[in-house]
Amino acid sequence: MRSSIIDSITRKVKSAGQTLGLAEETRISKLFGKNVFDRPAMKEYLSQEAYQSVVNAIEKGTNVSHEVAEQVALGLKNWAMDRGATHYTHWFQPLTGQVAEKHDSFLTSGNNTQAIERFSVESLIQQEPDASSFPSGGLRNTFEARGYTAWDPSSPAFLMETGKSRTLCIPSIFISYTGEALDFKTPLLKSLDRVDKAATAVAQYFDPRVQRVTATLGWEQEYFIIDEKFYNNRPDLVMTGRTLFGLPAARGQQLEDHYFGSIPERVLDFMVDFETECYKLGIPVKTRHNEVAPSQFECAPHFEDVNTAVDHNQLLMDVLDRVARRNGLRALLHEKPFAGINGSGKHNNWSLATDTGVNLLSPGKDPMGNLQFLTFFINTIHAVYQHADLLLASITSAGNEYRLGANEAPPAIISVFTGQQIQEVLEAFMAQGLEADSSKANKSKMPMDMPAVPSLERDNTDRNRTSPFPFTGNKFEFRACGSSANTSEPMIVLNTIVAHQLQQFRVAVDQRIAQGEAKEAALIAELRRTYEASKAIIFNGDNYSEEWLQIAQSRGLKTIRNAAEAQEAYISPKSVAVFGATKVLAESELHARAEIKLDHYIKKVEIESLLAEELANTHIVASAQRYQKQLADTYRGLKEMGLSTEADELKEQAREISSHISAIRKLIAEMRAVRAQANAEPDTFKQAHTFAEQVKPLYDRIRQHADQLENLVDDSLWQLPKYREILFIR
Ligand code: ADP
Ligand code: MG
Repeated sequence: MRSSIIDSITRKVKSAGQTLGLAEETRISKLFGKNVFDRPAMKEYLSQEAYQSVVNAIEKGTNVSHEVAEQVALGLKNWAMDRGATHYTHWFQPLTGQVAEKHDSFLTSGNNTQAIERFSVESLIQQEPDASSFPSGGLRNTFEARGYTAWDPSSPAFLMETGKSRTLCIPSIFISYTGEALDFKTPLLKSLDRVDKAATAVAQYFDPRVQRVTATLGWEQEYFIIDEKFYNNRPDLVMTGRTLFGLPAARGQQLEDHYFGSIPERVLDFMVDFETECYKLGIPVKTRHNEVAPSQFECAPHFEDVNTAVDHNQLLMDVLDRVARRNGLRALLHEKPFAGINGSGKHNNWSLATDTGVNLLSPGKDPMGNLQFLTFFINTIHAVYQHADLLLASITSAGNEYRLGANEAPPAIISVFTGQQIQEVLEAFMAQGLEADSSKANKSKMPMDMPAVPSLERDNTDRNRTSPFPFTGNKFEFRACGSSANTSEPMIVLNTIVAHQLQQFRVAVDQRIAQGEAKEAALIAELRRTYEASKAIIFNGDNYSEEWLQIAQSRGLKTIRNAAEAQEAYISPKSVAVFGATKVLAESELHARAEIKLDHYIKKVEIESLLAEELANTHIVASAQRYQKQLADTYRGLKEMGLSTEADELKEQAREISSHISAIRKLIAEMRAVRAQANAEPDTFKQAHTFAEQVKPLYDRIRQHADQLENLVDDSLWQLPKYREILFIR
């Protein structure tokens, strides 16, 4: 069975690169945005007035009137139908973490003989999916299941092309009848508005012309690509997205030969196909390369405003899955699909840009520019210091738990890496000994002619791959996010905490100015105070080291043991205060979100536990027993031949196998009991803890025995495709 799968895959690998010709259109600029209702499309299909109104909504966040929406609905319908669309859907992001769609056709019954296509303004503005099956965390009872999706004009509509269907997708928010957010986009848009207002108010100290600040996001998506036959023969991958069993291959990533290696032809063919689809959807994918683990890859786009970037990432994960299937492959987005080799993350590069074209986290050319940079830099790290627990809560999940803290991903302690050069600047800024310092400084540094504001080089290229929150020259990179996550969640937290910090900073500086301090002096004094209060979050060493754990503890930095514990941060008084003050999420919404995440976590762990039990019985133990039978036959044969010493050795082998089988049996019984106990627990927090601390470790222990058996049992009897096959035949 396994050998025939391998044979057929080997044939596919051989023919890769020969079967596919070039894509019809290879010029990216021709393909780009072909399926997006972007500005050129809007110009063609909308009146000048309607066009301008939508552009204003995108650029300035103004409202779109009902009359304009009517025109947009008509224009959208014509545009989509000209491209073969028959259906439309509001495309939204419920708290399941997936995207959701409910397709309606444009068909409206006309008179008896004539059917006509129509797309009303009401259908554009609002849809009412049956909300009862989406998680609401108790915000809504099933008998009041109303939920509404509403058009988000700031993210462009697009056409989803799959096999035979063409569907107009309208990015939307999803809220309950009583107005609470049931999705990621609603609080994301609010957080973006708050950080815009707060950052604009502070940026105006430096340039009064600044009217708008946009948070920017460039994500880097890691994923695995494997053959669909391996996938289909691994029930654990099919059901949970990760392998629950599997002896790590003798060769994993220790040769460091995969990272940036040449991309296998079959995978490259897939990537071309995949990128073509992305270009059509206006996703500016730019970079592709092999990642560290065998069969692991990464793609990254050019950065965009956070709202568009998040939509594009959600869309890309969907496209990745579809195109992989089309190519006889499967894309794995799970954070830890294989033990013993790296898992997958999604780095979130984040910054703030003004409508005057300035990146507020870019070190300035002159002292005033540097003061502006330090203002946004120091306020960000202060926000991170104060709300590190929320940042952790935003990125933890059942899957990411397997990555965090392992020697491949940022640990479950948030710290900021500044890099040596920025660190020197910060210390000089604090010490005031600037003249002396500057004489020692690197020649390439800019001269300073303003007290207390040090000079720096424009590009800081320091890197620290172990830090969860490094500064990388002109942006922060939140590296702890999981590969399958909706990046809205960390973005909501980051925007909100930075907005809140900037609001407070503005108030404090204004107060000093009102008391007669000069503006620069007030800014500098307040920045010094803020830096002093938050510098404990800075760590420029090795985040994977034992030493760091101790230092972090002595600094009182928060560490978490698991995802269940992490979620408590969402409902803490500090969290309720910061989300409440910024009006991003109300207390009831925070409780609902924590509840939903925990519930999701519990279900994931429970599914893994149930499946581990089934596979252990029906695959692992079953294969081992078949091998035992062979051993028994051989034993009898040896005895008959009078080879009793050899027969005794065989007995030892059989005993070893039996000991693993009985250990598995015992652990399964124990796991069933603990699971029943966990399921009887009414409190969601306590229940999540029981699953995390008692159920999970049991199937991890079952795995250890199962993997030992894989090492002992006759290869031809082993049913599950092995790591060395899944990861190395490509
Ligand atoms: P590095 O060399 O540090 O990895 P890159 O320029 O390659 O930096 O960028 C890595 C990611 O960061 C890319 O996805 C890129 O689009 C994104 N990025 C670059 N500048 C910004 C910015 N100002 N805001 C948000 N993301 C950014
Ligand atoms: Mg990165």
